[in-house]
Order: sequence, then structure tokens, then C-alpha cells
Amino acid sequence: MNAASPDPVLAIDIGGTSLRLALIGVDGRLHGEIASYDMPFASDGAADLAGLFDLMTTHVERARQSLSDEPMIGVSLCGNVDLGSGDAILAPNLGWRNLPFGRLFSERFRLPVCVATDVRQAVLAEAIWGAGMGLRDFAWATVGTGYGGYLFLNGRLYGGAHGFAGNFGHITLDEVNGYPCGCGRRGCFETFVAGPAIARAGQAACEAGQSAILSSLALDGEVTTPMVFRAIELGDEAATAIVDEAIRLICINLGGMVNLLDLSLIVMGGGVTEAAPWFIERVSSDIRAYLMTTEAQRDLRVLRESMPNAALWGAAAHVFAAEGLFSGDVRGDVLEEGIVHRAIRAW
Ligand SMILES: [Zn+2]
Repeated sequence: MNAASPDPVLAIDIGGTSLRLALIGVDGRLHGEIASYDMPFASDGAADLAGLFDLMTTHVERARQSLSDEPMIGVSLCGNVDLGSGDAILAPNLGWRNLPFGRLFSERFRLPVCVATDVRQAVLAEAIWGAGMGLRDFAWATVGTGYGGYLFLNGRLYGGAHGFAGNFGHITLDEVNGYPCGCGRRGCFETFVAGPAIARAGQAACEAGQSAILSSLALDGEVTTPMVFRAIELGDEAATAIVDEAIRLICINLGGMVNLLDLSLIVMGGGVTEAAPWFIERVSSDIRAYLMTTEAQRDLRVLRESMPNAALWGAAAHVFAAEGLFSGDVRGDVLEEGIVHRAIRAW
């Protein structure tokens, strides 16, 4: 391995519903295919770490054989991660709190590993290889099982005081009439706009007898987010109103962030944004109503992610940047200030 042509990184994306792995090169090129598995969950509802490690084993061993004794590994994880320790501080959709993921991974595979929050990895990938190339300031927003993002400001990732910046999904919208949130509080924006909120509103519409189409799609089961989008295609007014309201609240939330930071780009990803081809276009047009300046109304772009899975690509970019392996025109010096970025070694 040398700085001119480093080995690809084994990138791992641990999401709320699936685990994905791929080998990604320093030029952003995918080597081979993306492997995808359903996330294993234990009977207590938390993600099953032992089962997760078992699923990764073949891929890690293959990388050891095809690349080097010590292949580079980058992990993207759906929750707040301490960048220094690799601990999963709070991952509501995995049921993890203060889990020393980086240390456990490194001990299990006897390999160094870089670990960070999925939204942070996604914005990093967009800065290095995607729509954020050459920009000083932009944001990533995910609408999926959860709602949130990460910021790229002044040419670097912006972590804030503890590395948890970008949690705009946990700005409180209504703690009095709102719903409990995975963060432990109540009434966050996430509880009104993410996938589970859309499904819950669809279920309520069924139970109130407001949507014959949703009732027929759900049969006797629970309404899901894809069913709400399917009902919209079928002309259902209640389903249309539910997603209209989610989009309105997303636009208020993201529009506020643009007013605060004067951003000219928001890149979006997540299952809800992929549920309908028009979703991001709607956000892009409706957000204008909440932008304060005519400059922002004119210049703001809202785009979908530039690659198949920006969080997975970002897990690789994180390793290349931490190891100083980017060269030429690629912006390597983009990681958060005030943190020593290096892989975790725990054996
Ligand atoms: Zn919350």
C-alpha cells in the first residue's frame, strides 16, 4: 500500500433495517458489489451485535485475503457516535446506548477501525465525491426511519462541541401535543415527519374511517409508510394530506437551518425520500416559502444523494481522510477540527 494507490476500504453501513458492505477505492469507485443483509435483532429489540459480527466475518476475512493482513475498515452507524472512542452513545433505532462499538469491533476482528455516525459519513462522501465537491458550506438531511443530518461548514465537517451537531430532527416542534421520540424526549420534528410518523398517521386515518384505500391496502394489518405512498398514487386524499404535512414541516425545519447558516445546498437521502420520485422535488420547491432572503430563494439547491449509498461511501472516505491518503485535487483535510482522527485499535 502506498499513498499513490491505496487499497480500497471495506466500508460497512449499519442501518436501522439493513447492514451493507462494499469495497470502495480512494477514487470513490465501487470494487465488486454491495452486499446487503437484514439487520439482526435480539429478542429484547436491540440490534444483535454478535449476529452482526457473524454477518461481517466473511467479508472481513475476504478483505484480509485479497488486500492485506490488516485491511482498512470504515463503519457508518445510525446513531450518535463518539469520534474519538468509536462508542455508540445513543442509537435509538438499534437500541444501543453507550456501546463501545469501535473497541468491540477491533477486539473481535483484531483490526483497526474508523467509526462515525451515518449522516456524518454521508455528508463527507458528498464533500469528497458528490454534489458538495468544491463547496464550503452545505448540509445532509436524511428522512427515513429517523430524521436528521450533518453539516459541512467552512470547508470542513462541523461536529460542534461534542460531535453531535446536525441533529435538527430533534429540534422540538411540540412537546405538549407531540409524540415520544427515540431520543427520550417528546415532540421532536422527527416524530412528525420520519417514516414511522407517516405510517402512524396513516393508521390513524384508517381507524377514523377516512381512507378506504389505505384500509384496503393494510387489510387487517398495520399501515406502513410505503402503503401511504401507494395510496397517494391511487388518489387517496387522506394519504396525500399526511405526506403534504410531513413535507411542510420538513420545509419549515430545513428552511430555518438555511436561514441560520445561509446554505446553498442540501443533499437528501433516506427511505422516505426514495418512496416517491417527486418527494425531493416537492421539498425543493416548497422550502422557498420559508427562506428569508431572495438570494437563498434563488440559489438554494435540494438534491438527492449522488451515489447509491452515501453513508457507505462516506465510511470509506473517513478512513482515507483519517489516514491522509487523499491526494491531488481531492480535499483530504475536511474532517472535524479539534479531534485526533485515527482508527481505533483495541488488541
Ligand atoms: Zn428527539
